[in-house]
Amino acid sequence: MTTAPHEPSIAADDARPLDAQMFRRAGHALIDWIADYRENLASRPVAQLPEPGAIRAMLPERAPERGEPIDAILGDLDRVVMRGIVHWQHPGWFAYFPANSSYESILGELASAGLGVQGMLWSTSPACTEIETHVLDWLVHALGLPERFLSSGAGGGVLQDTASSAALVALVAARERATGFASDSHGLARAAETGVAPLVAYTSDQAHSSIEKAVRLAGLGREFLRLVPVDSNGAMRADILAAEIARDSAKGLVPAFVSATVGTTGVNGIDPVIEIARVCEAARDASTGRRPWLHVDAAMSGTAAFCEEFRFVVAGADAADSWCFNPHKWMPVNFDCDALWVADRAELVRALSVLPEYLRNSATESGKVIDYRDWQIPLGRRFRALKLWFAMRSFGLEGLRAMVRGHVSLARLLADSAAAHPSLRLVVDPPLNLVALAHVEGDAATQALIDAVNRDGRFLVSHCRFHGDLVLRVSIGALATDASHVAALRTLLEREATRIAREVRGARA
Ligand code: PLP
Repeated sequence: MTTAPHEPSIAADDARPLDAQMFRRAGHALIDWIADYRENLASRPVAQLPEPGAIRAMLPERAPERGEPIDAILGDLDRVVMRGIVHWQHPGWFAYFPANSSYESILGELASAGLGVQGMLWSTSPACTEIETHVLDWLVHALGLPERFLSSGAGGGVLQDTASSAALVALVAARERATGFASDSHGLARAAETGVAPLVAYTSDQAHSSIEKAVRLAGLGREFLRLVPVDSNGAMRADILAAEIARDSAKGLVPAFVSATVGTTGVNGIDPVIEIARVCEAARDASTGRRPWLHVDAAMSGTAAFCEEFRFVVAGADAADSWCFNPHKWMPVNFDCDALWVADRAELVRALSVLPEYLRNSATESGKVIDYRDWQIPLGRRFRALKLWFAMRSFGLEGLRAMVRGHVSLARLLADSAAAHPSLRLVVDPPLNLVALAHVEGDAATQALIDAVNRDGRFLVSHCRFHGDLVLRVSIGALATDASHVAALRTLLEREATRIAREVRGARA
């Protein structure tokens, strides 16, 4: 096989399907290919999209009748796949949110695939469950989360695929608590006939779209989702939440679920979870004794809590029923990996457990083990904890703190220079690692600035709307990003902002 740069190289004596010997050789070649890719990433443009359909056009119409040699298959990583890859691990990655994939987590993922176990029950691979439980307990201590989330008490942690799934399972548990588990038995429609009024969910108008999706999937209905306005920093107005809950209660509806966001997707707004928890407590129903379930979505920003000085991101967690963040964002753990904790695991398990005969086993019946199938939507689950375990051990808490502090201080530098620049406006003062900017000449100029930065090729930024204005978001969190990359971005941003201002003013004159 001839090898181009970055092309996996293996001997041509292939066996199909692979035997252990060929797997060894192909595996080593693939690891080399990944390491080459990562080492040379900075020299590529961050994102260069092909024409729609261009990738499919390189694939044969039908699946191959005869097996193909593994070198041909791996060779297509360069020939086909790389033509349609956006480089999320690039040091110039400032778009959306970080999706860090460290070498440690890649190895953990590989080990998980190599073991190929199904961890649906403790008894189907005890290590899969126990390492997960243990690492989630580690995280409780490491992030300063409340002890009630530890597995030794009434609560506990579980890995979900995504924050979207975490919100959905939390909402299903909330729905069951609010209906006294009538919805699980009779469905929401019958529950309503038997006197359970429609349930209402609340989140801010800056919350992630996954909350609306969860509300729709859990059967509450979009009509019963209230989007509470935010303040000038993007934080939910707890006073307006209280007023909305009071209005719904007066109408005979049941306020059942409040989702607070710690680090909104758009501008990293931090909802006042302590105040929101007080509002939930005040809404406790005197006759049923129930209050709305409080869920906290700290998808990206939860990682900041490794550092004492950023522990504001876990404020109020001690009053939350569920709290989640995504190690697959800012932590060096590749997608997918969301950590969810609940204060009372019995509520979650009761809402989600179905026990067919074929899953019965003595370990479950002993009551001494966790069966994570009861904590999630699917039955099957893979060994997701391995990559988290590998990454936490290799980085150590010190390494994780250093990474967070590095990104936050780079965000601070960029924000300060933008605030001082005559053509740029800081939309909110960044609480952490996300800088939200706009051009002083308005939306069209901001769009021109976004386009200019992304055209350059060295960086990718993304956008959002905040209080009606277009915003250029610089999310600083990629593992490979250092001060030199942020300095280069700053130079480009300032030069382009000045040029655009001159053009806008020239056209106006
Ligand atoms: N919540 C917030 C605040 C987010 O920013 C995001 C993703 O951007 C999500 C939830 C969704 O994350 P996931 O893809 O893990 O569902």
